[in-house]
Amino acid sequence: MYSKCSVIAQKISEIIDRDANFVTRFRFYTHLMICPKCLDYFRQFKLLKAAAHEPNPDQLPADFDNVMSFVLDEIEKKQTKDNISKDHPVEEN
Ligand SMILES: [Zn+2]
Repeated sequence: MYSKCSVIAQKISEIIDRDANFVTRFRFYTHLMICPKCLDYFRQFKLLKAAAHEPNPDQLPADFDNVMSFVLDEIEKKQTKDNISKDHPVEEN
């Protein structure tokens, strides 16, 4: 996942505009899970963005649940196996 909040700030438009690929979204959402600050920022950003375009600002992205459940599964697998390899399978770019 992204470990820096500054990266979240950079990616947030990409995420909201749905330009981000799966890896980016995965990393983004995993950061949100551990960082309430960014989750809050993300929600606020979406509100602003949605307010500018659409009348229905209160929704997370359509794939939010899918990505989140995938993320949760992955975390659960890691925790149960306690099998964290030195090379993270998801590389940035
Ligand atoms: Zn953060």
